[in-house]
Amino acid sequence: MAPGCPILKNGGKPKVKPGKTMKKAGQSGELELIDRIRGRASRAGSREVARGIGDDCALLRLRPGEELAVTTDLSLAERHFRLDWHPAESIGHRTLARGLSDLAAMGARPVAAFLSLGLPADLVRSVGGRKAWVDRFFDGFFALAEEHNVPLAGGDLAESPVVVADIVLAGAVKRGKALLRSGARPGDLLYVTGDLGAAASGLARLAELAHERRSNSLKIPKGLEPVVAAQLYPQPRVAQGLALVRRGLASAAIDLSDGLSTDLHHLCAESGVTAEVEAAALPIAAYATLTHALNGGEDYELLFAARPQARVPSTLAGVRVTRIGRMLRRQAGMPMVRLVGAHGAQPLAAQGWEHFA
Ligand SMILES: [Mg+2]
Repeated sequence: MAPGCPILKNGGKPKVKPGKTMKKAGQSGELELIDRIRGRASRAGSREVARGIGDDCALLRLRPGEELAVTTDLSLAERHFRLDWHPAESIGHRTLARGLSDLAAMGARPVAAFLSLGLPADLVRSVGGRKAWVDRFFDGFFALAEEHNVPLAGGDLAESPVVVADIVLAGAVKRGKALLRSGARPGDLLYVTGDLGAAASGLARLAELAHERRSNSLKIPKGLEPVVAAQLYPQPRVAQGLALVRRGLASAAIDLSDGLSTDLHHLCAESGVTAEVEAAALPIAAYATLTHALNGGEDYELLFAARPQARVPSTLAGVRVTRIGRMLRRQAGMPMVRLVGAHGAQPLAAQGWEHFA
């Protein structure tokens, strides 16, 4: 996992010849770190990875009649997580969860993960007998990887002034069966898995805690763990995405990474329809507000449309499914998404997460 390191990795020839600089870097951390990661990476295994870490490329072997689904997600310290609020294990978990959630949205089975990591040097060293930050990051990463049986098949490492984690996930889906954003039609009904707003309300609670303590170095009290669990350890809905494909239920799907209001706009735009959401039907998570549920983001639930005659069950692979609205024909002057409440329908603007906004 790093340029200039012969024992790792796929993705390019060594950029640094083994020499003085390399040796120094290796002995003090990089090579040893790669060995540690490689030892752990080999534990989870999918049959589709013919070659993983150790060659210049990974070799993936799909089953006949399948196509490859590939997604990439960039996580940056102070943009997607905070080093002083999120435990290292949570950051590792969230990095992988973001990629797995994209595969879930397409109904793809995870095959292999690739991780490029940029880290300040002090996060690689263990201080005073305590586990190094990076090892705790991988504790979280591999715990989720093992749950979903997805091996780490390659990546890259670099010293960086800020923590940067770039995850690539490869998945497999039966040819022509992937869930797309573009398949919804007027009259389709709109569903979500799980609860909405839990991740955003958890983040708000972390912010309150930092304010109360007048410190950003948060040790999360036991009693607060359930409140912040969805923020720290979101569960990608891989099994639910696979079930949607297997049962042919969904006409379109997307994962809720940026917030319902924003992601529903994406779904409508790609499908060429408008949507109506019933406020009273929204499965708002405990501790969360309507605003968290609409605009919070990071819930990593699935939002999907289904034909009105489709028999959508009330649970999918153990997770509740709720009907929250319907798709309508697009008409000139009509907002793309409307929220129907006690006082009638109002336009629902995309107010979720947006970079460069
Ligand atoms: Mg997505």
